[in-house]
Amino acid sequence: MEIFRSKRVFVSLLLSAITALLAILSWEIIVGFAVYLGSYLNVEKVSLNAWSFLAMILLALAVGFLTEKFSVKRILKFAVPIAVIWAILSFAAAKYFSVNLFFMRVISVMFLPIFVVHLKKLWLIDSELTEKLVDLASAGHILEGKSADLRIESGLKLLETVFPLSETIVFRLDEYEGLTPIGRARNGNSIDSLVERQNAWRESVALCERALESRQTVIESDENKAKSAQIALPLIYEGVCVGVLFVKFHRDFERADQNVLESFCGQLARNFQRKELRSKDLPNKFWWSFLSTNSAENRIGTTSLIKSLMKEQSFSALASSYLKEAHAIAYLDGTLAYLNRQMRHLAKLNPQEIYELDLFGLLENFKTEVFSEPHLAIRRVLQTGENYQNELYFQKKNRTLDLQISLVKAPSDDVSIHETNVTTKPACFLITLRDISAVKENEKLRSDMASLMSHELRTPITSIKGFAELILMDETISEENREFLMIIANESQRLSKMLSTFLSVSNLEQSDKKEVSKTAVKLDTVVHEVVDEMQESAKRKRIRLVEQTNDNLPPIAADKGLIRRAVSNLVDNAIKYSPERTSVMISTVLEADFLRVVVEDRGYGIDRNDHEKIWQKFYRVVRDGQDKEDESTGLGLSLVKEVIEQHGGVCEVESEVGQGSRFSFTLPRL
Ligand code: ADP
Repeated sequence: MEIFRSKRVFVSLLLSAITALLAILSWEIIVGFAVYLGSYLNVEKVSLNAWSFLAMILLALAVGFLTEKFSVKRILKFAVPIAVIWAILSFAAAKYFSVNLFFMRVISVMFLPIFVVHLKKLWLIDSELTEKLVDLASAGHILEGKSADLRIESGLKLLETVFPLSETIVFRLDEYEGLTPIGRARNGNSIDSLVERQNAWRESVALCERALESRQTVIESDENKAKSAQIALPLIYEGVCVGVLFVKFHRDFERADQNVLESFCGQLARNFQRKELRSKDLPNKFWWSFLSTNSAENRIGTTSLIKSLMKEQSFSALASSYLKEAHAIAYLDGTLAYLNRQMRHLAKLNPQEIYELDLFGLLENFKTEVFSEPHLAIRRVLQTGENYQNELYFQKKNRTLDLQISLVKAPSDDVSIHETNVTTKPACFLITLRDISAVKENEKLRSDMASLMSHELRTPITSIKGFAELILMDETISEENREFLMIIANESQRLSKMLSTFLSVSNLEQSDKKEVSKTAVKLDTVVHEVVDEMQESAKRKRIRLVEQTNDNLPPIAADKGLIRRAVSNLVDNAIKYSPERTSVMISTVLEADFLRVVVEDRGYGIDRNDHEKIWQKFYRVVRDGQDKEDESTGLGLSLVKEVIEQHGGVCEVESEVGQGSRFSFTLPRL
């Protein structure tokens, strides 16, 4: 920048010196000429000496430098009074001391550099402005995605696909006010003779000329011939007629089609104007463009090109009004850029309020218990660049909104927005709100139904189990019947266990995080208790339970009963899905922000494809040679996941078939 500036100063000094030299030289010639003529013109007939010459050059350099640094207005404020004083001094010196102060030369050497340097500054600003305009127009060009020609072509294709057209012609209105066809499409094989074709052409041109003259759509329809019609539509952009579209319907022309065609013509006219402007020379192609009227006109054209690009870009914002979701766009400084109709409606904003509102003001309208500090959400989005998502429940209206805040990133330079793999920078926020009340209501209804059913099933199952066991006490029943009764008792026991786990999972799913009653819990104690409890069943399978706990673990805030159930389910699974004479290791680890419980076994392992699925309700892994009917319900891990997530932790699994599994979960530290 500094170098650039010093280069500018250098050019100004050079220009000032050259201007001064030329001015002095001109005066010398004028003086010489006057002396030669021997006239008594009142010019300074004395030639300059070396010192005066040097002084004048220095004066020009000083003036040039100051003009480069300050505005011409400021310079003239001083230069004019100095010129007046110099005039008085020159007059006095000539009259009383017969000394020539070279008034005219000094004035020229002072004012001409001001003029030249100022002109140079204007020229630089003008070129920069033009460059920026061209840049802006060509940046838009990249955004357009397709060239104007291609757009005209695809537009004609669309027309032909939508309407039963036998002919489409696009005329351009050229400089001499004549219609020149620039695009033509015909459908079907025409067997008309040459004369007929010429007549038809003349007819279509005449129709187009009428449309041009009246600046309105002209329709010639023939109701009898299967509603065929010929239509000429003027292409008008910003009040200027740029061409005409001629279409021929061979059947089924309806009045409503006219509106569609007219809207299409609006777009076609824009494309036309764009093509026209792009075909012109760029305004700053040559250095003298500054002085060219043609170039100035092209610059006006460029601004109207930019206007048309901006208009097309505004369509995308308008289009979002038609989406079901409520949207708002906010710049990184928190100013709201756009709110769609649905958002205005949801936030109950009137036009005045929208004007005064900023991002936080808008989010204030959607505060709930889980979204009580919008600024924290915004901060997280800014820090991580990841979307923030939450479900907001409004009790008063019994409405649930799905909120998403995203950080929109834009390409850092002027590359196409359609391109991927480019470096991006945060540009703005997108806030989306979706009304999911109906979905939530539905989910709740389903879950309520399921809970109710399981509740209702409990009593009959208990009876079945109770009576089966009662009959089993009878010594007289046959061996075969005893076996059947055993099956009834075991299966009802399994069913009852399944129901109670299912109810626990459903209850947890429905409860809010805050509803879990948390107390300070020592995780190592919980693990110890579970291991103690499980020793019996492990021994039955000759499995060694190894406990590796850390006594220095800080307590966590949790529902002890639930955590115990989660650990117990993991240990139970490890025993269940391991062969005899293996070991299961249960350990607790202290991590930066979490405590982790790990249950590791040397059992059957789980296929990679099942790692995600095992956490779903009722999902069971099928293994060769393993009885599926045993204790398994497919609910154990879904309960673990639900419990851990309610406590703000995450569950993980690492496992390989035949090698064993490593289940773990984290819980946040207090
Ligand atoms: P289940 O009541 O069937 O144990 P879970 O939800 O606890 O239901 O487990 C789902 C499935 O994941 C089980 O069918 C089992 O095959 C598999 N699984 C769970 N834990 C282990 C483990 N430690 N080793 C191997 N497989 C396991």
